Amino acid sequence: SAKRLGRNHSLRFCPALDKQDNPQLALVSDLRAALISGDQLELHYQTQHHPGSGELVGMEALLRWRHPKGGMISPGEFIPLAERHGLMAELGSWVIEKACAQQAHWQNSGMPKTTVWVNISALQLFQGDLETQLATCLERYQLEPSQLGLELTESVLLDERAGDMGPRLQVLRELGYSIAIDDFGTGYSSLGYLKRLPVDKIKLDRAFISELPNDQADAAIVTAVLAMAKGMGLEVIAEGVETQAQCQFLVEAGCTLVQGFYFAKPMPAAELEQRWAPLTQAEGAY
Ligand code: C2E
Ligand code: MG
Ligand code: MG
Ligand code: MG
Repeated sequence: SAKRLGRNHSLRFCPALDKQDNPQLALVSDLRAALISGDQLELHYQTQHHPGSGELVGMEALLRWRHPKGGMISPGEFIPLAERHGLMAELGSWVIEKACAQQAHWQNSGMPKTTVWVNISALQLFQGDLETQLATCLERYQLEPSQLGLELTESVLLDERAGDMGPRLQVLRELGYSIAIDDFGTGYSSLGYLKRLPVDKIKLDRAFISELPNDQADAAIVTAVLAMAKGMGLEVIAEGVETQAQCQFLVEAGCTLVQGFYFAKPMPAAELEQRWAPLTQAEGAY
C-alpha cells in the first residue's frame, strides 16, 4: 500500500507541468525551499485545559509557514500539497523534531509537565520509520514517550489505502505514546472502528461544538459521544471551544478537556512562555 500512497510523487518530475503556469507547483517548490532553509516554518502551540478550573493539561503543535511573499499560509492549504508532492515525510519529521526540542526546553526551564501533541499524517504512519524517528528524537532530547502525543485524523485511520491501522497504532501505544483521533465525527466512519483501534482519546470536532448550546442535534451528539467514550474508557477533548456558553454546556455534560479560542489561540512558543503562569491558573475558567 505504501507504493500506492506514493503514486502521485511522479507528478513533480513531469516535464509537461511548468511551475510558471501552475501556482500550486510554484508553491510546492517554495515549500521545498522552505524545508531546506528552515526559517520560514514554525510551530505554534495551542493549550488544552480542564474546563472548570482552567488548568493547563496539554498543548497541540500546529505548523505555520511564513511564506516570504505570500504571508502566512494555512496548513490546511500546504499540508495536502506536501502530501501529494512527496514532501510530507520531511515536513513531518521537521515537526516532530521541533516539538521535541520545544518540549525539552520547557521541561528544562521548569515549566509544568504537559503532553505536547503533534499531528501525524497517514503518509508518516506508512513510510514505516515513524517509531525510529520518534525514538531518536526522544533520545536526543531526553524525553519520555508520555510527553508526546500523536493526533491522527479520522479520515487517516479509515483511509482504505492504509489498510488495517490497528497493528500500527498498537505498536506506538505499546511504546508509550498517547494516540488521539482528531476531527472525530467528521469522517465517513462507522463506530465499529473505535472498538477495533487502540486509541486513548477522541478529539470531538469543532463542527459539533460551534452551535452549542442551542442546536439540539449537536447537544445530543456531544452528550452521546461523551457517554459512549466514558463507557469505553476513552478521553474526550472538545475542539474549537470559543464561548463561555459552549464551555459551560461541556462542563455540565461531563466533558473534562477542552481546547479553543475561548482559552487560547495557537501562539508562538515565546508568547506562550510569557503567558504561561496565568494559563496554568484559573484565568481561562468560565
Ligand atoms: P486540527 O489538528 O484539527 O487543528 C485544529 C485547528 O483548529 C487549527 O487550525 C486551530 O488553529 C483551529 N482552532 C483551534 N481552536 C479554534 C477555535 O476555537 N475556533 C476556530 N474557528 N478554530 C480553532 P490550523 O492551525 O489552521 O490547522 C488546520 C489543520 O492542519 C489541523 O487541524 C491539522 O489537521 C493540520 N495540521 C496543522 N499542523 C500540522 C502538522 O504539523 N502536521 C500535520 N500532518 N497536519 C497539521
Ligand atoms: Mg490536531
Ligand atoms: Mg481537529
Ligand atoms: Mg482539523
